[in-house]
Amino acid sequence: MTNKAVFLDRDGTIIKDKHYAFMPDSIEFLPGVIDGLKKLHDAGFLLIIITNQSGVARGYFTEDDLKAFHKALLSRLAERGVFIDAVYYCPHYINGTVKKYAVECNCRKPKTGMFYAAADDHNIDFSLSYAVGDSDRDCSICHETQCRGCVIDGNNQIKDAVIHFENFSQCVDYILNKA
Ligand SMILES: [Mg+2]
Ligand SMILES: [Zn+2]
Repeated sequence: MTNKAVFLDRDGTIIKDKHYAFMPDSIEFLPGVIDGLKKLHDAGFLLIIITNQSGVARGYFTEDDLKAFHKALLSRLAERGVFIDAVYYCPHYINGTVKKYAVECNCRKPKTGMFYAAADDHNIDFSLSYAVGDSDRDCSICHETQCRGCVIDGNNQIKDAVIHFENFSQCVDYILNKA
């Protein structure tokens, strides 16, 4: 059996983007996110976070800090009845200062390595799935598979294979109407 998924960007999409924040008390959910994620889960979508975290390569925080942040994020969501199926992150950045992570990788969006890893691990059918983010690069997978893309950036327009929305709730309503 194959699964359908919503691939969610993290910063600026489900939580407020606070520039390389890594302290769990900085977590602030964006409007409509808790309710929207519940609806997507109830409609049978796996919820998969796919996030670039170059702060690791830049030396702003460690990979352990990042893991602790994600653990806190998932437990805050679980307290509110939202269950995330997996988190994929890219700690790399070619011009970073931490040698181990200052590499050219195939996961930093707009590269699509994290999407393929998630699809492999969770048996996901791209043609039934959506990528949701606040930037076009969060939807790069939509240009090489049948995955559909939603960018929440305050514009209402259709550009290439990607649809733009005002806010998270509008995006969720759109996906649920299509599903
Ligand atoms: Mg973002
Ligand atoms: Zn990477």
